[in-house]
Amino acid sequence: MGKIVVKFGGSSLSEAKQFQKVRAIVEMNPDRCYVVPSAPGKRFSEDEKVTDLLYKTFRAAQAGEDFRVVFSKIRERYMEIKSQLNLSVEIEKYLDEIEAEVEKGVTEDYIASRGEYLNGLLLADYLGYAFLDPKDMIFFADNGTFDSERTNTVMSAKLAQVPRAVIPGFYGSIRNGEIHTFSRGGSDISGAIVARACGADIYENWTDVNGFLMTDPRIVPGAKPIRHITYRELRELSYMGAAVLHEDSVFPVHRAGIPTNIRNTNEPENDGTIIMHGVTDEPNPYVITGVAGKKGFSIVSVEKAMMNSEVGFGRKVLQAIEELGLSFEHLPTGIDTMCVVVSTAQLTPVKEKLVKRIMDLTSPDTLTIHDNMSIIATVGRGMVHNPGTAARLFTALSRAHVNVRMIDQGSSELSILVGVDDNDLEAAIRGIYEEFVRE
Ligand code: ADP
Ligand code: ASP
Ligand code: MG
Repeated sequence: MGKIVVKFGGSSLSEAKQFQKVRAIVEMNPDRCYVVPSAPGKRFSEDEKVTDLLYKTFRAAQAGEDFRVVFSKIRERYMEIKSQLNLSVEIEKYLDEIEAEVEKGVTEDYIASRGEYLNGLLLADYLGYAFLDPKDMIFFADNGTFDSERTNTVMSAKLAQVPRAVIPGFYGSIRNGEIHTFSRGGSDISGAIVARACGADIYENWTDVNGFLMTDPRIVPGAKPIRHITYRELRELSYMGAAVLHEDSVFPVHRAGIPTNIRNTNEPENDGTIIMHGVTDEPNPYVITGVAGKKGFSIVSVEKAMMNSEVGFGRKVLQAIEELGLSFEHLPTGIDTMCVVVSTAQLTPVKEKLVKRIMDLTSPDTLTIHDNMSIIATVGRGMVHNPGTAARLFTALSRAHVNVRMIDQGSSELSILVGVDDNDLEAAIRGIYEEFVRE
């Protein structure tokens, strides 16, 4: 028998009728032995995700407000699922316990994690699977980084004894068993960790779209699905905002050579997207694999005549960046200019200090900072074999009346990055998509 790990996202488990679809999917293939649920997501577009409500509960409690107002909405969500599915798990007891903990004062991570915890209890009951708490199997080091090796050793041993289980996503434990969460969307990572630990044949990530689409469907409605994509391409796209899969979920499965299959809970007959280790044999129907973009960057541009011949110039600019505790995303350089792309959120509090430090260290001719920039990544393993891709890209941008503020081609030739004003992000993505994916 093979082993398949299935992760279901928030919209796949938002209410009783979604639970029914999930059970049908799990029962369709007996290899689907470990199930990783998210917290209930939105049932309709104006609805609230349980995780968001939990963060609100924490903030209300912190501010000394009556957190029960928000918590009662959470309570209702779980009680409704329980009653509609006739479950016997005593979810009200768990809800009472959590409420009492919030009253006493708990950490933000503890409360945020309860969305997955409660959903896991309901789902385990509904499927007749064991419930395994990830606090005993997913570990973080004291500085908050994920401890992959300790996790893998402990989890592999546990799973070897429990053939079928529900393991809530999004959290694990730190130090003395205190709850610690991944960043938002982190249930994808939990699923990948379970897949590695049990040596799964495949990691299925069930969501609300027919796989990884060539671009964000909210920007290009009807964007085409990608049938095959490599982990490296996926990482470039998800890092740049293709938020369908958490970017860190790539590591555990990539390393273990396990493919990921993104599937749609609402359309289980669709094969979705396969994310594989190496280059696939399947030819890509388009020159590009996908395009994604993200707002919130600043470009620090340092200009000095003859910069290229001044030994140590680049080091000094980076030294200033480092001294102020900033990390940089990209580093496009020209003969007389060097640009450093940083996140605006990181830069803002230290902006003046950074300007002064770069001035002192390098005495540039000019130093400018462009805020409100978006970076767009056009990604494709096929781009390198197709001369003229860059020309087509820039023609498409000019046709869309988008002013390109920065260009950076990764040395892997897997992606071309452009910087544009935040206001132009959507138009740029639409323009690139139309150019490369025209019928
Ligand atoms: P889940 O709750 O199942 O984890 P998410 O909301 O995290 O689901 O991710 C799925 C959503 O990602 C889709 O509904 C879609 O709106 C969005 N999305 C953004 N970019 C893409 C893309 N390139 N392909 C598919 N979906 C995308
Ligand atoms: N429930 C968490 C969130 O909303 C984790 C996840 O859904 O993956 O971010
Ligand atoms: Mg998600």
